[in-house]
Amino acid sequence: MKPVLSARYELPSWVGSKVDWGATYASDAERMALAVELSRQNVEHRTGGPFGAAIFERESGRLVSVGVNLVVPAHDCTLHAEMVAFSLAGRRLESFTLHGPGLPEHELFTSCEPCAMCMGAALWSGVRRVSFAAHGVDARELGFEEGPVSPEDHRYLAARGVVFEAGPLRAEARAVLALYKEGEGVLYNG
Ligand SMILES: [Zn+2]
Repeated sequence: MKPVLSARYELPSWVGSKVDWGATYASDAERMALAVELSRQNVEHRTGGPFGAAIFERESGRLVSVGVNLVVPAHDCTLHAEMVAFSLAGRRLESFTLHGPGLPEHELFTSCEPCAMCMGAALWSGVRRVSFAAHGVDARELGFEEGPVSPEDHRYLAARGVVFEAGPLRAEARAVLALYKEGEGVLYNG
């Protein structure tokens, strides 16, 4: 087995036809609808786990990046939807943080409450707000492991300017989790 010295991944090709990059996503409901639709499409196309995420400029509603779960197809445990969205947003802005000088505030919408890894990355990413549709308990019901995530952790992040909150469309996001289970999708951890 040869050592691997580089890594590369791509969003599935269907993303190009499902995401309107020129649209303005004015409300929380519109922003979350995109994250949940990405999660649904990822299940329907069988291109990864049942999770989607998107990063927006908070004030303008401009879409900056999207992510879907790529853990299984990319052989990469770190490629949760939120991680992909953080990674692609940083590259687009050519900045390791989305909270740099001269940058507008950014926020992440995700189809499911972030796991321990994504919660940590949210702090490093520079987003100011994280809104999630399905709750951690919904993912755990399906058999996914969320890791150590507690209200105390959320308070820690809030004290540093990153607010986590339950957003709209929980039922719709839960339906995507159920769809994944029906399709006997891979439970890649937990
Ligand atoms: Zn995660």
